[in-house]
Amino acid sequence: MGRESWARPAVLLNPLEGDPTDADSHIGGPMLWPIDSEWPSCDSHGEPFVGAVQLYQRDFPELPFPDGTDVLQVFLCTLWHDVTNAYGPDVRLVWRDSTTVFELIEEEPEPSEQEERYVPTVNVLEPIRYTEYPHAYERPEELRDLPPTSGGTKIGGWTCWGDGGPLTFDCPECGAVQRQVLSLGTHEPSGDHVEWNFGEYGNLNIFACPQDVRHPIRLWID
Ligand SMILES: [Zn+2]
Ligand SMILES: [Zn+2]
Repeated sequence: MGRESWARPAVLLNPLEGDPTDADSHIGGPMLWPIDSEWPSCDSHGEPFVGAVQLYQRDFPELPFPDGTDVLQVFLCTLWHDVTNAYGPDVRLVWRDSTTVFELIEEEPEPSEQEERYVPTVNVLEPIRYTEYPHAYERPEELRDLPPTSGGTKIGGWTCWGDGGPLTFDCPECGAVQRQVLSLGTHEPSGDHVEWNFGEYGNLNIFACPQDVRHPIRLWID
C-alpha cells in the first residue's frame, strides 16, 4: 500500500485561553443550549454534565454531522467512572441544529462536586489542519520517517495509543468498526494546555460509529 492509503485528514483544535460565547466553537465555554431542553446528567452520579467542547460545522466541516445538525456539543461528567480500560470522566455527545435554538438556558447547571483534573479551562480554538499517519504501534515500515501521531486535542486522524493499543472497536448497535471522532489531550503541541488530565499518556479518545455517529460511543483512555 502506498503512503496515501494511510493518510487521514486531522485537525488539531489548538486551544488558546479566551472568552468564547455560545455562538463560538470552544473548549470550556458556554453551550448553545435551548431553555426547553433537558440538560444532560450522569446516570451514575445524578450530577449535571459539564459543557466541555462545542464545535460548529462552519468551523469544523470535517466532523461527520448527521443530516440536519450543525453543532457538536461534548459534555463530561467530571467524576470517576469505570471507562472501558481505565477510570475517567463519562462523555455525552449531542449533535444539534443551531438554527432551531431561539431561547437559551439562563444558567448552566453546575455539579455539586467535580474532579479538578477533568475540568477544562476556557479556550477559543485556532485549528490547524494537517495529514496524519498511524501511530508507531500500527505504522508500517515505509512510513517510519513521517512525523509522529499527535497526542493533542484533535478531530479525525489516528489514535495516539499508549500501552493498551492498538485496538479496534465494533459498534455495539450495528457492528461497524468504530472510528476515532475526537481525542481530548492533556498535552497540547502548542504548550497551552487545557489543564485537564487524562490517563497515563494523556488522551481521552472518543470512538463513534461511521454508519451513524448517534450509535453508542466508546471511550478509550491512554
Ligand atoms: Zn458521573
Ligand atoms: Zn453503528
